Amino acid sequence: MSSASQLAMLGGTPVVTISSGEQWKRPIEKEKELVGKLLDEGAVSGAGAGLPLEFEEEFREFIGCKYCLSIDHGSTGLHSALWAAGIGPGDEVITPTAGYIGSYCGALHLGAIPVFCEIDPKTLLMDPADVEKRITERTRAIIPIHMCGRPCDMDGLLTLAEKHDIVVVEDAAHAHGSEWDGNKIGNVGHIACFSLQGTDPGGKPVSGGEGGIVCTNDRELYERQLVFCHLHRKGVVDELTLPEYAKLDSQVLGLKWRAHPLALALAKVSLSTLVYRNERRRQNRKIIFDALRELPGIEPVHDYPKARPAGFYGGLRLIYNPEELDGLPAKRFVQAVHAEGAPVSGPGVGHMEHLRTIYTEGFDIWGNNRHPLNQNFKPHKPGDFPISEGLHERVLRLPAYIDPKEGFLDQYIEAFGKVVANYRDLL
Ligand SMILES: *Cc1c(COP(=O)(O)O)cnc(C)c1O
Repeated sequence: MSSASQLAMLGGTPVVTISSGEQWKRPIEKEKELVGKLLDEGAVSGAGAGLPLEFEEEFREFIGCKYCLSIDHGSTGLHSALWAAGIGPGDEVITPTAGYIGSYCGALHLGAIPVFCEIDPKTLLMDPADVEKRITERTRAIIPIHMCGRPCDMDGLLTLAEKHDIVVVEDAAHAHGSEWDGNKIGNVGHIACFSLQGTDPGGKPVSGGEGGIVCTNDRELYERQLVFCHLHRKGVVDELTLPEYAKLDSQVLGLKWRAHPLALALAKVSLSTLVYRNERRRQNRKIIFDALRELPGIEPVHDYPKARPAGFYGGLRLIYNPEELDGLPAKRFVQAVHAEGAPVSGPGVGHMEHLRTIYTEGFDIWGNNRHPLNQNFKPHKPGDFPISEGLHERVLRLPAYIDPKEGFLDQYIEAFGKVVANYRDLL
């Protein structure tokens, strides 16, 4: 066997010789300048004025929605959005088990019960047909996650929502700039929550260290969100126009979950490079997917026809079909590609939420057995979500490159080609 076809895992030479594919760097000098300016001015607290208001306005314009509210985290954005949507004790909220606890834990703390659903095996996103089967008279919200910036079937979910009088609270933590039918996520459903966690390029697509921002076109949802968690926001009393909320004072309902202005300064700089990063990542994803689609065993994740992905937090997804490679286990395939020098990880399709201890063994959330989850606890077990659990064994994760080094993507693709061409050596 020639050394060119000898797999690196079996002693051959790795295909990828260009180290560290990503060249893009965030504009740190701009971040320092803006943060420094706020420090000089002492403008390091508050909301509803100055930089925090400017950032909300810029983000609102970018999304194209009517209302936009910054908040301290994506998960508290979701928590307050769920409260705004009227979620309370005994209600049910539907969310994918291939999801994330931060998406729905607000509902749990409000006394509601998460009901898990399956994902579509082609898009790996919340499956509206499966959601519908799980709707009961207690269902109050659906929480889709636009995983890795790929929009869920918003037509399907909004149709269900209308039919059953349910609010769609979108987890858009990965999806800054993603579109559905030509409209940005945040300007499509009822209310969408973005995280601003981390640092570019590996953090949430718009990042400020810690932070979040919520978008809606619904005045009541916006005002409810304000009263829930924006104590002492500048001008909050003037913003409360609906009779039920206009009677509150500036201390509203007492919670203060606003974002730190220094975090929003970082997020403002991040937003300024988002369009470039999204465009480049889309182009590079197309190059990788078009090449890998030709290989047996590998199926790049599918998008809904009306979806235009962006953000790409968490990278790209491939569905691995072991039966096309004589049953070669996904884990061994990943190790072999990795040994060729191409970053790839997995298998895994996110968390399996139903297999967390709190759902397999129960957990007395409020103490004294008062939480509806304790009262109605039906333990989950492996096998309850066969589609999601099956995919969990065979979904691979790749980085979403912005500016890879010249020639890197060719080598990256070749690493997969080499492993597929020589897979029999791994059986
Ligand atoms: C990051 C994230 C969140 C929560 O955002 P934080 O800002 O970290 O609170 C919610 N959902 C998903 C899918 C996330 O990745």
